[in-house]
Amino acid sequence: MSARPAEAPRVRACVGLGANLGDAVATLHDAARALAALPGISGFALSRFYRTPAWGVTDQPDFINAAAAFETGLPATALLETLLSIETALGRRRAADGSDRWGPRTLDLDLLLYGDAVLALPGLTVPHPHLHARAFALVPLLDVAPDVRIPGIGAAVEVLAGMDRSGIEAIP
Ligand code: AMP
Repeated sequence: MSARPAEAPRVRACVGLGANLGDAVATLHDAARALAALPGISGFALSRFYRTPAWGVTDQPDFINAAAAFETGLPATALLETLLSIETALGRRRAADGSDRWGPRTLDLDLLLYGDAVLALPGLTVPHPHLHARAFALVPLLDVAPDVRIPGIGAAVEVLAGMDRSGIEAIP
């Protein structure tokens, strides 16, 4: 009798995509293609693209935001590393001192949710700590995961219902 290797548990992960430098729409399409092509991914879904007013440092171009959801066997930490390497491959450069944290960016990929996991690891917090406070992240997330719950917070659709979502427009 041959023993089958144990399969990694599969988890539905949700990723936020954002960009506001260069051809942001093209960059988000490239990033979505890179995510969908990851080994072992299934059930890939991509939201509409939204034009959203810049948040934090407001004196910068509007952002394009989207969200993707997919099943993966990758552990959350490996998935985050993959997201950061896609950011780098598509041209993201970070200031060494973090001074560009709220500034314009070629590509930002955030691990919004990893199933119903709650993680507080060095360099990785899940759910993403700002997800429940940002309409620009919740609106596309609900396209791909309308019933999703934010662990510790509640149904994403109810969280968004109490928020100002003015200025967030789907791109036709
Ligand atoms: P930013 O590019 O400004 O979103 O910051 C990215 C940094 O935040 C990375 O170095 C990650 O280690 C850290 N980080 C912590 N939690 C998350 C998360 N859920 N998704 C993406 N980045 C995260």
